[in-house]
Amino acid sequence: MKEIRTNFHTHVQRCRHAGGTEEDYVKEALAKGLSQLGFSDHAPFPESDYGMRMPFGELGDYLDTINTLTKKYQSQIILWKGLEIEYLPEHCDYYEELLTKWGVDYLLMGEHYYKTQQGGTENIYSAPAPESCLEYAHTLAEGMRSGYFKAVAHPDVYMINPFAWDDISRKAADIIIDAAVATDTVLEYNANGFRREQKQYPDGVRYQYPHAGFWEMAAQAPVRAIVGSDCHDPSSLWDCAVEASYRRLRELGLEPVVSLL
Ligand SMILES: [Zn+2]
Ligand SMILES: [Zn+2]
Repeated sequence: MKEIRTNFHTHVQRCRHAGGTEEDYVKEALAKGLSQLGFSDHAPFPESDYGMRMPFGELGDYLDTINTLTKKYQSQIILWKGLEIEYLPEHCDYYEELLTKWGVDYLLMGEHYYKTQQGGTENIYSAPAPESCLEYAHTLAEGMRSGYFKAVAHPDVYMINPFAWDDISRKAADIIIDAAVATDTVLEYNANGFRREQKQYPDGVRYQYPHAGFWEMAAQAPVRAIVGSDCHDPSSLWDCAVEASYRRLRELGLEPVVSLL
């Protein structure tokens, strides 16, 4: 049986830290034999600038471009209009608008920011204490319950911090995995983590993510998982990091889903 290849986590140059146009990724997808390609560039917010994302003024052109490519390549590949975006409760009207007025097909929760217990917004890349993982997990769970997101990108990204894999990080994983099962939200095994170097952490030398402990727990639950390339360059759309991700999920007994829609 021929392997089905798809990807739903694809960036383009609009976020200013990825290379390649939408069409460059379509051509690469065809060369690598993908049957579906979902674009998920970093979404803008109309009034807040969290950085590292496309300008709001380009959102229309991004979606129009994918529409044009959908027609041009309709006999060869299925394209989807997605966005990677944070869940923050104050932006729910905007998620609604993206999925209706703007015609976005799916939202991928890429939670770089999270809500603290005090209601502040913090960046998970510099979490102040291990307990922040719990605040992060609660924000993800709330986001999944909002119903706006098909999948959560790198749900184990909180382990980029110098924390041990301990009761707190396991509790955070529990909260996230439970919410994914309850809301039938797909959890993404993010291949981009394998493209970076391994580093020394309190729980040993490892990649920032995917985190083995998190995924061993996920594999014990009836979760749906997907591999996301999270490519920021056309050449990494389907590379050895993606292939390693499929292998590792299967070793854990999780058969990845191939579509979010
Ligand atoms: Zn990025
Ligand atoms: Zn991404």
